[in-house]
Amino acid sequence: MKGLVMRSTGSWYEVRADDQRVIQCRLRGKLKLKDVKMNNPVAVGDRVEYELEAEEKGIISEILPRDNYLIRQSVHKSAHGHILAANLDQAVLVATLVFPRTSLGFMDRFLVAAESFRIPSVLVFNKTDLLDAEGAAHQAALTHLYESLGYGCIQTSVVENTNLEAFRAVLEGKMSLLSGHSGVGKSSLVNAVSPGLRLRTSEVSAFANKGVHTTTFAEMFELEPGTFIIDTPGIKELGLADTEPWEIGHYFPEMRERMDQCRYQNCTHAHEPGCAVRAAVAGGEIAKTRYASYLSMLGGGDNRR
Ligand code: GDP
Ligand code: ZN
Repeated sequence: MKGLVMRSTGSWYEVRADDQRVIQCRLRGKLKLKDVKMNNPVAVGDRVEYELEAEEKGIISEILPRDNYLIRQSVHKSAHGHILAANLDQAVLVATLVFPRTSLGFMDRFLVAAESFRIPSVLVFNKTDLLDAEGAAHQAALTHLYESLGYGCIQTSVVENTNLEAFRAVLEGKMSLLSGHSGVGKSSLVNAVSPGLRLRTSEVSAFANKGVHTTTFAEMFELEPGTFIIDTPGIKELGLADTEPWEIGHYFPEMRERMDQCRYQNCTHAHEPGCAVRAAVAGGEIAKTRYASYLSMLGGGDNRR
């Protein structure tokens, strides 16, 4: 039988069967050894084959092929990675320019990480009601910038009920990673667009009160049939898929489209003569903030906040 992994504790997996039943599953022993480079062989979002053992208990015998997956790199490079989630349709970053301020470095790092896993991203700028005229102009400029790079952007306010229908439409029918700093309004947005929420109250509050929630595992919530969000703790540590320094530019769409005009094929776009990327930065065709994020990532700088 087939099902979808909704939750994991590391030893038990909550699998939603195709007939909507929820089955608590363990892993078949030999499956555990299959991917020795990962701490966890099965992640939230995985589609699996399982066998029923008892009523509502089962054993996972196979992981169906993944479209993609997100890895959190271990702090210790030598240690094993941790698969955060699999089979994502998109990564949605909720950002706020004030209360709290999400830095452009953090946003760019998130977008680059998602690019490296080949997951499309959407930016949601929330709390527009708190912006003064200058803040609103800044946000409009950022929306323009990121849309020109191919990322979907919406500006929302839960308080003023702005663009919540657009937010709902972004999520509809998809499996989305929902990320963003604590306090940006992720729970508020989700609660605002999910009148038909099929979650139990405890699950809603588990999502809202991540403070009391010490698991390092991702959780999946079904907002309406076929619409899922995945909430992952520790998303700040979202790593890049195995990336060499010279590859980072490939995950900046505006650099990717120009780098074949650089004089040197292995150009890092940092100091080389004849660099088409630096020429575009100087000419104002590539945003300085984006290039600063690039240099910071290239230098291994901590751009995460
Ligand atoms: P989360 O940590 O990302 O899930 O953020 P919450 O949904 O818990 O929201 C954090 C705080 O921001 C709460 O006090 C919300 O009421 C508030 N908040 C959420 N959305 C908005 C908004 O659009 N405007 C304003 N002014 N406050 C908001
Ligand atoms: Zn270059």
